[in-house]
Amino acid sequence: AIPLVIAISTEQAARAGVLIKNRMALERMRTIDVVLFDKTGTLTTGEPDLKDIAAVGGRDTDRLLALAAAVESDSEHPVARAIVRAARQRNLTVPDAAGFSSLTGRGVRATVDGRTVHVGGPALLRELGAVEPEPLARSTRAWMDRGAAVLHVIDGNSVLGAVSLEDAVRPESRQAVAALQNRGIKVAMITGDARQVARAVAEELHIDEVFAQVLPADKDKKVAELQGRGLKVAMVGDGVNDSPALARAEVGIAIGAGTDVAMESAGVVLAGNDPRAVLSMVDLSRASYRKMW
Ligand code: ADP
Ligand code: MG
Repeated sequence: AIPLVIAISTEQAARAGVLIKNRMALERMRTIDVVLFDKTGTLTTGEPDLKDIAAVGGRDTDRLLALAAAVESDSEHPVARAIVRAARQRNLTVPDAAGFSSLTGRGVRATVDGRTVHVGGPALLRELGAVEPEPLARSTRAWMDRGAAVLHVIDGNSVLGAVSLEDAVRPESRQAVAALQNRGIKVAMITGDARQVARAVAEELHIDEVFAQVLPADKDKKVAELQGRGLKVAMVGDGVNDSPALARAEVGIAIGAGTDVAMESAGVVLAGNDPRAVLSMVDLSRASYRKMW
């Protein structure tokens, strides 16, 4: 039989939008030292919008955007949707693309007019050995310092240009982070995004520790790294690439609007997208523990 106190808190949790799949997760929540949040889609809305476009050598920015949209047209990633949406809003004619492939955590590739074109973030740029010419590098640095995500459009290994995307921090995130810290819990953030993008969000939210440019396959290693320091970890994420990290953490918390895979790996699923629900879990866990004695 389930102890009465646990049954009550599971029900209270559900009312706070916290669906407990594994009741040990709720019990363990009171012992957590650090909450590790995935950035995109968890602390931010995850729905970026296109802000800037810059093309190399005075090329036409509309043509660059149309090319990027062609390469991204088969991708489901929020950054891809933002690029395709921006091209549509500007009534651009998007060329046909073939041979689409997705490079997990880095970007996408497709063939357009017989050329192999990549669109992706900093990891992709490094992987292709592509170098940004000036003055493009100056522009993209300024965008990143502002906290925007930068995606490059690369033909072979030459950079054609770049776009910036901004993903707004959820208004509730600030409160969630501050309240967890008030309860003596450290708050960390993990992302595949560039260091500067991560730093801008972390500074806005006063986050204690940041892991940036983490490849999907390495997210769970960062959980292990924290555990190796003797810390008990609650991991909050939404994506397929967060699943191993959710499974590795003492408490895995999936954001409800996230993927099915993430939800399967988690002990807890949040009904909505409000990071403050993590706080409700801590409070419920601490309260029920006290009631048992
Ligand atoms: P995150 O949850 O931080 O977005 P992802 O693994 O989904 O982690 O993506 C990591 C990075 O890979 C993104 O920040 C972006 O730079 C790049 N990326 C992923 N998918 C795409 C895509 N469809 N187009 C361009 N870049 C992408
Ligand atoms: Mg994500």
